[in-house]
Amino acid sequence: MNIILMGLPGAGKGTQASEIVKKFPIPHISTGDMFRKAIKEETDLGKEAKSYMDRGELVPDEVTVGIVKERISEDDAKKGFLLDGFPRTIDQAEALNDIMKQLDRDIDAVINIEVPEEELMNRLTGRRICPKCGTTYHLVFNPPKEDGVCDLDGEKLYQREDDNPETVANRLNVNVKQSKPILSFYDEKGLLKNIDGSKDINKVTEDVISILDDLK
Ligand code: AMP
Repeated sequence: MNIILMGLPGAGKGTQASEIVKKFPIPHISTGDMFRKAIKEETDLGKEAKSYMDRGELVPDEVTVGIVKERISEDDAKKGFLLDGFPRTIDQAEALNDIMKQLDRDIDAVINIEVPEEELMNRLTGRRICPKCGTTYHLVFNPPKEDGVCDLDGEKLYQREDDNPETVANRLNVNVKQSKPILSFYDEKGLLKNIDGSKDINKVTEDVISILDDLK
């Protein structure tokens, strides 16, 4: 089962990815996580990726496609994989097609968790954090017992600078622009499965699992 997971920031991609790999024996392959690990381990790949990531730019395709090819050729991915954060460009999508051909495999589905942008704005700008213990709250979805104060240590909560409405709107815009052509690319191939991500988390998981069950 070779799956691609798509969704804008705040759509709940991370949560759904961890539910999927609990239920199906396939590795969760996130290019962002792979780059962060390489940076932490100070490998050559990490050094190269860091300069791009620090500027908020995409790591060049030669590098990114290379690590994805290597990773999906590993033993644990032979029965399938859940790709997250890749492809991010049409060139990457075409390269993935070529890799799959070489491996004599196919992408089985592209799961896109859809949430209206307005809802994503609410989700992303409502985050509040405790400066002392790092606990994360949400004004609407996970509020502290007392307004603006951490449940655990009574510290005054703060909002991360990049969670302000302007930055969030910008991040969403960039992501919408980036993902649109990729979604069309897979839609034309009949692989795109849109999931309503504005429902309750458990319901979203049920919908995702039901699509994956049908692929088996
Ligand atoms: P993410 O955690 O998926 O948001 O990725 C964090 C950063 O890693 C991105 O901002 C890019 O710099 C880099 N990155 C992750 N995936 C890709 C990709 N498919 N192509 C290029 N750069 C990527």
